[in-house]
Amino acid sequence: MALLVDVALPVPLFRTFTYEVNGETAHAVTIGSRVVVPFRQRREIGIVVGEGTPRPGMSPKRVLEAPDPHPVIGAPLLALCRWMAEYYVTPLGVALRSALPAALSGAASPAPSVKTRRVAVLSRELPTLLRRERIFARAPQQRALFELIETFGGRAPVDHLLEQLQFSPSVLKGLVARNLAVIDNEVVARDPFASRPAPAPPAHSPTVAQQAAISALTTGEPGETFLLHGVTGSGKTLVYIELLRRVVNERGRSAIVLVPEIALTPQTVDRFRAVFGDSIAVLHSALSDGERYDAWLALQRGEKRIAVGARSAVFAPVPDLGAIVVDEEHEGSYKQGEAPRYHARELAIVRARQEGAVVVLGSATPSLESWVNAHAGKYRLLALPDRVGGGRLPIVEAVDLRAIRAGSTPAGGAPDPDALFRSVISDPVRQALGERLDRREQSILLLNRRGYSAFIQCPTCGDVVACPNCSISLTYHRTPERLICHYCHHAEPPRAKCRRCGGTVLRQRGLGTQQVERLLSERFPSARIARMDVDTTSGKWAHTEILDRVARGEVDILLGTQMIAKGLDFPNVTLVAVVDADVGINLPDFRASERCFQLLSQVAGRAGRGPKGGQVFIQTRVPTHHAVRCALAHDYRTFVREELDGRVKPPYPPNVRIANVGFSGTTEDATARLASRCAAWLHALVAKVGSPVTIVGPAPSPVERIKNRWRWHLLLKSEQPRDLTRVLRYLAERFEVPKAAQLRLTIDRDPVSLL
Ligand code: ADP
Ligand code: ZN
Repeated sequence: MALLVDVALPVPLFRTFTYEVNGETAHAVTIGSRVVVPFRQRREIGIVVGEGTPRPGMSPKRVLEAPDPHPVIGAPLLALCRWMAEYYVTPLGVALRSALPAALSGAASPAPSVKTRRVAVLSRELPTLLRRERIFARAPQQRALFELIETFGGRAPVDHLLEQLQFSPSVLKGLVARNLAVIDNEVVARDPFASRPAPAPPAHSPTVAQQAAISALTTGEPGETFLLHGVTGSGKTLVYIELLRRVVNERGRSAIVLVPEIALTPQTVDRFRAVFGDSIAVLHSALSDGERYDAWLALQRGEKRIAVGARSAVFAPVPDLGAIVVDEEHEGSYKQGEAPRYHARELAIVRARQEGAVVVLGSATPSLESWVNAHAGKYRLLALPDRVGGGRLPIVEAVDLRAIRAGSTPAGGAPDPDALFRSVISDPVRQALGERLDRREQSILLLNRRGYSAFIQCPTCGDVVACPNCSISLTYHRTPERLICHYCHHAEPPRAKCRRCGGTVLRQRGLGTQQVERLLSERFPSARIARMDVDTTSGKWAHTEILDRVARGEVDILLGTQMIAKGLDFPNVTLVAVVDADVGINLPDFRASERCFQLLSQVAGRAGRGPKGGQVFIQTRVPTHHAVRCALAHDYRTFVREELDGRVKPPYPPNVRIANVGFSGTTEDATARLASRCAAWLHALVAKVGSPVTIVGPAPSPVERIKNRWRWHLLLKSEQPRDLTRVLRYLAERFEVPKAAQLRLTIDRDPVSLL
């Protein structure tokens, strides 16, 4: 009887497919294997997820190829992907594809070619010295080669033997012919982090608070989740490291460390490398597909025991998982923006529960979700309330921008050349910057808006230059001089006239990092200024280069967007200033305040990490806004209390669970009609099955058009995740999206942004 298998394919259908395995491929196919199968006139790569059930009248097609000798998905990862597919309402095949390195999940091709080299390996049974006299009696060259390979541990690259050491190929052939050695292929791992010098491991012993956290973590129950709430500079990294030391070095298990973005956190990564060296695989975004696959293989084989990476590292194929660290757990970048729209923090918790590992979520400003879960007893709360070494949190002062008038002309009449500078960098900040330069200390300036000025406006008619493809204004960039859309990257030269009224004076409004950089360099010509934003960090290692320069003391002022707020630990930074705290605070998104509070608290936390202490200024027009007020006072708890109250009416997470259902298409009409029809369909469904899910909307999305696609959305809310799952599943499986105007429906569960 033919063997049938159940295959998950990365196609937008909520079902699996039955195929038949024939003699040739049967030996290589099991649960978790990749298979190449025919699907609608093409070849698709799928994963075997179970045995197929024969059904009368069914004549399944055959599996064409089974490219790998071993299954690529183990049972634990398959279980995780099943959970992800169910919860985020994604076909299982799509979920599985996102869990595999690109090299394995691309078009239907055989296993990717990784860089391999030929190695000569001595046979297991080494002849005794006495026997050697005999077997090599007439082959002294072979003996020399044999003993050389022996000194290399019984294994040496063929190239090295033949090229550098000048052995003739015939000598090696002789060894092989006599069964004294075999030629094997070995995967060559290429780790770009390997070329970075590893720093010295930390010599500190943990503080009392750190020790308490370490003890709790190392005696945690399998599957237990911890929330480590540690203020900035409280030494959370050391706690992670000690946990991993116990789990990996002492118990011989594996671990995963998730960081928001590797490129922005080279210091954190270096600290792990310093302690765990070669057992770490750093899954950097700059890795090529081949390099990523190498790292993946090394993890799967247990050659590397710790995976460090951004959100997709949660799928690292490590055996015997003992711990997962989610550093800066509040970061939005843990959420994937396309299907499956998973949150790596949630997957980490699920995976740890399934595999008996502990999870530690760390942050100075935990997400409201995690905070509420900790207080509901779902997670165990651990606290590091103080900075290490008796350091104190810096004093944070607000500078009220409303008191500073831009471009004002003093009584004498002549325009004040200083006015623009002073409207951007207030006097207290300017003075503090000057002092830092005199004392050769470093400063960090945050402005969360790149480009030169936010938008261009005609003062006569008020028209703002907008993107032709998106309902968003174009940002003025000066070097090179262009108007650029930050959503679709549309770029055009600046214009001389208003396209609406023909007015010839166009004003720049709002301020970006490029302009601040220019103002600073004019005011402080001798200062060494580094700007870090998307525009200065397009190279693979650009972030690291800038941060390394800061670490070496070659930068006086580091200016940048939110990129500079994360994880940096430079003891010589004694001043932090936020140029405009209000960027983003009024976005029509229920998380706008939370994000603002987190950003301000995190960037303030970069100051005063050394013995010299630190000072922070926050320039704002809304000093009484609770996000600003609580950041000024380092008061996380008050912020959480007020913010939670603000999410009761109307209810928003974590007071309720939500899913954002998005609609988009090439015409406004068709998109709006689809949204209304879907809302009506959902209302009918909810009424029919008596579901407690509520439907809000539909309405146009806050950004109504992106890349020439119109956007609408509606929200589904419910107390219980289960109810939401049921409705979403029905929606995904039963609701028909017409094939017109390139209409699309997307489901984003637990969204981090509603824009
Ligand atoms: P966090 O991530 O909580 O902001 P870090 O882990 O970056 O803090 O630690 C802040 C600084 O304190 C680092 O320079 C680190 O080397 C140092 N540090 C951590 N623990 C100790 C300790 N027990 N004794 C002395 N210094 C420590
Ligand atoms: Zn655009």
